[in-house]
Amino acid sequence: MMNTNGIHHITAIAGDPQQNLDFYAGVLGMRLVKRSVNQDVPDTYHLFYADAAGNPGTDLTFFPWPALAPVKRGAGQWDEVALGVPAGSLEYWRSRITAAGAPGAVSVGEIVTRFGERVLPFSDPHGLQLALVEDQSYEGFVSEPWHDSAVPVDKQIRSLAGVRLVEQSGEPSVSFLAESLGFRAGASEDGWQRFTVGEGASGQRIDLKLDRDAPRGQWGVGAVHHVAWRVPDTEAQSAVQRAIAAAGGRPTQVIDRFWFRSVYVNEPGGALLEVATDGPGFSVDEAPQNLGESLVLPEWLEPQRTQIEAALPPLSWPRG
Ligand code: ZN
Repeated sequence: MMNTNGIHHITAIAGDPQQNLDFYAGVLGMRLVKRSVNQDVPDTYHLFYADAAGNPGTDLTFFPWPALAPVKRGAGQWDEVALGVPAGSLEYWRSRITAAGAPGAVSVGEIVTRFGERVLPFSDPHGLQLALVEDQSYEGFVSEPWHDSAVPVDKQIRSLAGVRLVEQSGEPSVSFLAESLGFRAGASEDGWQRFTVGEGASGQRIDLKLDRDAPRGQWGVGAVHHVAWRVPDTEAQSAVQRAIAAAGGRPTQVIDRFWFRSVYVNEPGGALLEVATDGPGFSVDEAPQNLGESLVLPEWLEPQRTQIEAALPPLSWPRG
């Protein structure tokens, strides 16, 4: 059976893009590695935050859609995105996020222990549920610290660690994730069962909760849009695409996202997932030292650059 190798990137829906940039690049100290547009809705930004190099496994991306209603959290929907941080850094993070006084819905919980790891749950300014986890499955950066970050290197977010998923009926999703992406069932705690994929790195977990009474989740501001899982190349991607079809899923054709190639499918509970190649990466159309500094458009949208830029709200770098 073909496996995927953990999380490639996670895409969520934000409100105001400047508030999104201020929070992720400013407060959380991630690098804006790509400033582009939604390829299907080009009057909307697509903002990518990651480690210094924008490596797969570190990348949290947003479609800012301030006009959308808030998310209705529920079943068939990805929830709480966990970000890996170094051991012993949660006290630093708790006071940093609290002190930032960011606008909107930012709320910081207490430090708790889950599956033997220390975790700080909080939400971003637009209601996206997040958690910083002292991820013991992987020590160190998936790739590179960001030396221009407002957050010191020994405290920086190092990776995407995992994601939660609530389902009304667990069995179809569990079988599908096992047969198509290679997930294995692990321990349970407090009603959550941990499923893992791949070997020896971060971003390899889904914590699944079965809740027959949960209302169906609905996309909105503060929702996870989709979770992308890594494959090394297009050959491995074709194999996973076939495994998805064999497991009863209906995968899309391969879509060229320029920085990677993507296949999408809804798992049986309804949550949207993507299978994305590791390459070619974010340096394909910008020099590594200039990532995120200017608006990058796919070639076929270049002729409309003037109109697109006029329709996008201006963005300025976070203060400090
Ligand atoms: Zn994606």
